[in-house]
Amino acid sequence: MNIGDFLKELPGKKLDEKLFLLKYKPHEKSHLVIKDPSKCLLCEKKQCTHICPSKTYEWQEERILISHENCLECGSCRIVCDEFNNIDWQYPPGSFGVTYKYG
Ligand code: SF4
Ligand code: SF4
Repeated sequence: MNIGDFLKELPGKKLDEKLFLLKYKPHEKSHLVIKDPSKCLLCEKKQCTHICPSKTYEWQEERILISHENCLECGSCRIVCDEFNNIDWQYPPGSFGVTYKYG
């Protein structure tokens, strides 16, 4: 089951309640890397901070902070960072990452 199907199957619940139903096993090494942080300074919309449903990206003190342990692996951030193509995104290795309890 992917994230879209998971969210559709839980109508009536708020996003925070849905996220609470997931299980995370974060790897120590981030599977999300900003290729060139200086490009983020030129990025006006900072789409990654708006699109991510789990608030993995945060703009703080002139740089992007990444909390990769929150990632739902939906892939949206690498798509919206189209102007600078600045996110190196891979699935976490092995059994790490997010698991959907109902799938
Ligand atoms: S959308 Fe891409 S370039 Fe813009 S702030 Fe996010 S990672 Fe940086
Ligand atoms: S893949 Fe999805 S959940 Fe993970 S950081 Fe990107 S937008 Fe957020």
